[in-house]
Amino acid sequence: MIYLNGEWMPIDQARIPVLDRGFIFGDGVYEVIPSYSGHPFRLREHLVRLQSSLDGVRIVNPYGLDRWEELVREIVAKNPWEDQGVYLQVTRGVAPRDHAFPKDAKPTVFMMSNPLVTPPQSQREKGVAVVTVADNRWLRCDIKSVSLLANCLLRQAAVDEGAVESVLLRDGMLTEGSASNIFVVRDGVIVTPPKTNFILPGITYDVVIELARANGLPLEIRQVSEAEVRSADELWMTSSTKEVLPISTLDGKPVGHGDNAGKPGPLAARMNQLYQDYKRTVMRAPVKA
Ligand code: PMP
Repeated sequence: MIYLNGEWMPIDQARIPVLDRGFIFGDGVYEVIPSYSGHPFRLREHLVRLQSSLDGVRIVNPYGLDRWEELVREIVAKNPWEDQGVYLQVTRGVAPRDHAFPKDAKPTVFMMSNPLVTPPQSQREKGVAVVTVADNRWLRCDIKSVSLLANCLLRQAAVDEGAVESVLLRDGMLTEGSASNIFVVRDGVIVTPPKTNFILPGITYDVVIELARANGLPLEIRQVSEAEVRSADELWMTSSTKEVLPISTLDGKPVGHGDNAGKPGPLAARMNQLYQDYKRTVMRAPVKA
């Protein structure tokens, strides 16, 4: 079952007018919220990020936080899968085609849920290949916009090389992945770029930082140069669906040094464990009605 503008229906019955600005301009924002055994993960945080994306594109939030929470829990309850990926999007609505905002369009709200697909065990154990690509996106990457053409092109550049993700570099500095945040390990220290307009403030990024701090793992949040990425001891990507996924090769070269080269490192394994344990504590909490 999907949700469209106040109604529940099977997805094949859902229809959007062709003049929806989401279709015409990519004029909208979205969220992806994983749900484990009926528990939407970090729901409040996702909805707070939705609000800041809406503020960033000047769409008035059609619902309050409590209504959104209800809707997300409802869609999870209406769908059969144990673990789900809830997708929601809000566009500026339907209006005659004109770049300037329509005066009275009503935002379109769409939500669907799918079985949650996380990386297979083999990828978690062996790590995955990534390539570096120049980050040619706009300068408001902190907005989770449905205008994802640049991200699609950047991801395809990775797929074309037989890799699973592209690591983006802007002016000699690491930004993030095409659909993930990137963590670097150097000399036992976990390093990741700060939240700026150049990256999406990942929910998983926040969890990883919290877990590092809570467990006394050395952490630096600062700009990371391309050279530091290329000579890292470990590289990981994080996202709601990838979780904490180690990177084994960068542009075809093994990540890391010595015996560990091309293999996930010890801090990746540690953080993976902490993340999985944390998820389990969330799943043990009682499901709210
Ligand atoms: N950066 C980008 C560009 C993304 O698309 C995503 C995933 N939506 C992330 C980072 C990771 O965010 P999260 O941990 O909230 O999934």
